[in-house]
Amino acid sequence: LPAARDRLRVAIQKSGRLSEPARALLASCGLSWRESRDRLFCYGETLPVDLLLVRDDDIPGLIADGVCDLGIVGRNVLAEQILQRANGSGQDKYREWRALGFGGCRLDIAVPEGWSWGGPAQLQGKRIATSYPSLLQAWLREQNIGAQVVPLSGSVEIAPRLGQADAICDLVSSGATLAANQLKPVLTLLQSEAVLAGPVAPFADARAELAALLLRRLDGVLRLKHSKLLLFQAQRQTVPALMKLLPDAEPPTVLQVDGADTVALQALCHGAMTWQRLEDLKSAGASGLMVLPVERMLA
Ligand code: ATP
Ligand code: MG
Repeated sequence: LPAARDRLRVAIQKSGRLSEPARALLASCGLSWRESRDRLFCYGETLPVDLLLVRDDDIPGLIADGVCDLGIVGRNVLAEQILQRANGSGQDKYREWRALGFGGCRLDIAVPEGWSWGGPAQLQGKRIATSYPSLLQAWLREQNIGAQVVPLSGSVEIAPRLGQADAICDLVSSGATLAANQLKPVLTLLQSEAVLAGPVAPFADARAELAALLLRRLDGVLRLKHSKLLLFQAQRQTVPALMKLLPDAEPPTVLQVDGADTVALQALCHGAMTWQRLEDLKSAGASGLMVLPVERMLA
């Protein structure tokens, strides 16, 4: 059993797509760190929560081995390694705790642009290059397709041009890389984004309380991502129609302004508050519309 610890250690990507957003998210939860010279370990200052800066592929293993307590990693990496480890011992040691809303991408099958796509059965007997062999293998098995998985650690998108494979299974966000290599996406195996990964078993020491505190703050930050406080005035009889335009709002506070007719409302809205929505509200009778940022919330 690992020794009891009273500090929490969170692994994040050292440099890559997830590094900056991961740090920013943790900072918005009130964490700050003293920078070390090698920038591999950052000592937590405001709270006993330290950072370990590593390659993203190492994060699931670090949690499995108990070297780190939590990690921020793409669901694609986590799911692939859960399958890989399941081939061995069977028991998962870690799981996804929270989806974090950044680093969005898909694990797609892509084929040469020249193919007319007739469905998954078309992959029968083909060679598919990927950095996610376990996820691809599991999907092929589930679809009952006999195809050859060609594992590659990088530059998967050029494999068809090099004659190493007929199709690929790779991460896609805009699709620009695929297009540049004359490939087109035809199927999605996994919708991915950055996630907070943590152990399956609960912590049995001071880390339990620290992890709960971090989750509480994280949930507050994630909930408020698009949340705005909307202020406006309206005639009392138009309020039901106006609230229909705000299906993402919490029950509003309604204050009487003058006499019986005019009311002032404040409502916490969780969807994006676009100009179009404000114009729709104005047309439906709202005036003095004001959108205020919400900085923190503790439910
Ligand atoms: P490391 O050196 O840490 O191993 P990496 O090259 O494996 O870095 P990045 O390219 O920085 O990793 O990607 C990290 C994660 O970002 C991916 O695992 C994935 O979850 C996410 N991501 C979002 N969009 C894309 C994309 N278009 N291509 C690749 N990954 C993406
Ligand atoms: Mg990597």
